[in-house]
Amino acid sequence: MRVSRLLLVTLRDVPAEAEIASHQLLLRGGYIRRVGSGIYAYLPLMWKVIQRITAIVREELNAAGAQETLLPQLHPAELWQRSGRWQGYTAGEGIMFHLEDRQGRELGLGPTHEEVVTSLAGDLLQSYKQLPVNLYQVQTKFRDEIRPRFGLMRGREFIMKDAYSFHASEADLRNTYLDMDQAYRRIFERCGLAAVPVDADSGAIGGAASQEFMVTADAGEDLILLSDDGTYAANQEKAVSVPSQAVQLDGAAMELISTPDETSIDALCRSHSWDPSQLIKVLLFIARLDDGSEQPLLISLRADQELNEVKLINAVGRLKGQEVLDCRPIQPADLDRQGVNSIPLGFIGPDLDDAVLSSARSWTKQFLRCTDRTAATMERMVCGANQPDQHRLNATWDDLGGTPKGLDLRKARAGEACVHNPETQLIEKRGIEVGHIFQLGRKYSEAMDSRFTNEAGKTEPFWMGCYGIGISRLAQAAVEQHHDDAGICWPTTIAPYEAIVVVANMQDQTQAELGESLYNQLIAAGVDALFDDRKERAGVKFKDADLIGIPWRVVVGRDASDGIVELVERANRGVQKLPHADALKGLISTLRP
Ligand code: ATP
Ligand code: MG
Repeated sequence: MRVSRLLLVTLRDVPAEAEIASHQLLLRGGYIRRVGSGIYAYLPLMWKVIQRITAIVREELNAAGAQETLLPQLHPAELWQRSGRWQGYTAGEGIMFHLEDRQGRELGLGPTHEEVVTSLAGDLLQSYKQLPVNLYQVQTKFRDEIRPRFGLMRGREFIMKDAYSFHASEADLRNTYLDMDQAYRRIFERCGLAAVPVDADSGAIGGAASQEFMVTADAGEDLILLSDDGTYAANQEKAVSVPSQAVQLDGAAMELISTPDETSIDALCRSHSWDPSQLIKVLLFIARLDDGSEQPLLISLRADQELNEVKLINAVGRLKGQEVLDCRPIQPADLDRQGVNSIPLGFIGPDLDDAVLSSARSWTKQFLRCTDRTAATMERMVCGANQPDQHRLNATWDDLGGTPKGLDLRKARAGEACVHNPETQLIEKRGIEVGHIFQLGRKYSEAMDSRFTNEAGKTEPFWMGCYGIGISRLAQAAVEQHHDDAGICWPTTIAPYEAIVVVANMQDQTQAELGESLYNQLIAAGVDALFDDRKERAGVKFKDADLIGIPWRVVVGRDASDGIVELVERANRGVQKLPHADALKGLISTLRP
């Protein structure tokens, strides 16, 4: 491709809309343009990158026995009603774009395809003899993200590879899951990415196992915790650790103490010289459940710990045996709306009486009490006395009506000891989730009554797995991991072009002819090359070449008259001055070993 013919519009200045390096560089390099919030055009250079990544994904998935298909993006509401997800995905903070057709029938734009594929499997796969089947597609997904940002990292329209597997047994599902894990590792490695597999949350009712692949980068939205011996890694949503030791209280009998205006842990610790690990903090949350009910939660944690809201949602789901749509802190305005006005905020203890809820308008009139293990295992503690301006010192669980069951509700944090080996510590890194593999189990096949006939002649729901890769996010994550001050440094396997021939001065006939000849020879050798034949100043062309990040550059300049060119490696800026035939031979043998 000749750069004079390429749709290449580079920008000198950093666009104001872009906060992180990869977003800035993709805009500046003429790879993407913003069309609307979370909506981007993939310009020709970007589309080549996407296609390169997709080709690698296809090769590895085909090798793993998956079959490519293409499912519709318009989803009849009825399918999502059958799985029970229509309401959650379209109402409130739901992320599915939805619309009505001319007959008034409701449709959604596919954010993910479990419903469509599960219903098809129920039709097409009748017998265990047809199993296992693993279907994948590469397609644009639509999600009305609450906060689209960072360019392709979190778009409202983005390209995903999603795969769904169907099995006659859980053991068979596990085999495919492991195969996909291996395929994913090869995909990310071939794309030149350092991606860490981490344990991920699989939801309260979701399947048995789930793993995310994280590209480590400071700009990542996810926090991941890794053991310093390299044997454990988890998303913070899921991570576990050994909590630090609590400071003990000196065991006197319980007493009421006056704590006027001391409504925060900080204030209490300051005025009584307590350590936060001696206190219990009690949080009020409201959970919306699948059946439409609103369940007030009374959550107790050791006060030096932080609540992990994902663990909370899962715990509530398990305790209630229902899906939890969301959980959020109760605000004073919520209490007003419910007509609940006898809660002494700032002074509540784990034994707050359910009677305070008796006047609630729509809430369930009984707390679901959720106690973190750090709180449940305290011998003596400071906690609110359930009346204004009073706390209890040296309280035991017996004083509070009995020891509750301890749950894991706390955030694991860097510096804490690992559960698998307390000699090792957790460290934290930020990560960009580029892939996710998931043993779904029978959640969708049961909900949608999607069944096959097993060896014994009985029908049963399929065992299912699902496997996603954010193709467009991956492309940007690669830039986040591979760039320098001057621009992008694409890994060769996913670069839009492998090499660029830059002629310093197109007015100089020797340079122009040598450049043309080298470019033609690269193309003849099957190298995907660019030829910068523009009549721009050399400086402009070098800057652009650095910015767009083509891995190899052949510079044809003043020494062309002596047959000498420069071979430059973008990533390490290594420069070799060579006779042009040697440069060409060296480059071709590097790219086509
Ligand atoms: P996230 O937690 O980042 O919102 P998710 O867990 O909802 O993502 P999945 O449903 O697992 O996403 O989708 C599979 C993959 O698609 C993700 O691993 C991610 O790489 C990519 N992806 C998800 N949402 C977006 C988005 N809004 N923009 C770009 N890529 C996305
Ligand atoms: Mg995910």
